Amino acid sequence: MKPLTEEQRATLEDVYRRVDARASSISEGHDGWPCRKGCDHCCRHLAEPLTVSEWEWTYLWEAFQALAPAAREEIRTRVAELEGTRRPYTCPFLDRESGGCRVYTHRPLACRTYGFYVSRGVGTWCHFIQALLEQHGEGDILWGNHDAVEATLERLSGPPLSLFQWFSAHPG
Ligand code: SF4
Repeated sequence: MKPLTEEQRATLEDVYRRVDARASSISEGHDGWPCRKGCDHCCRHLAEPLTVSEWEWTYLWEAFQALAPAAREEIRTRVAELEGTRRPYTCPFLDRESGGCRVYTHRPLACRTYGFYVSRGVGTWCHFIQALLEQHGEGDILWGNHDAVEATLERLSGPPLSLFQWFSAHPG
């Protein structure tokens, strides 16, 4: 697999940085915001298996390659299992015992936007956040535009493919 060029890496990391900044400003500005270390609910209840674009895959691959062989093997097994299971899906990158993400610093866009970026007419997807909003209202939350950031990444790095497709294309 070709590594990211310096320009591609800088562009992808800039998109991620901007998304992370928006997410932080929302969570830090609201008491009791549920997204925090220790909550892995969304990683265990994916509506669909993760899909990632080529740059995201290449970036993820770096973190995957840095894992211990046993963890890499477990992830490959979990990805293969996704094909035969039904929703909700548990992310193959989740360490099911600790509840931590094994590729956190290199996690894809979908994980960074979840709960902070919304699509037109669609809520935040997370029922913990929904409950908080129903109790306290939205206040001054400036949601990110999910459709726009997804379109930006797709324009830069191509259409997303499933983890199953990416791992099948990179068996070694
Ligand atoms: S990549 Fe990490 S943060 Fe994203 S769903 Fe999987 S375990 Fe969760």
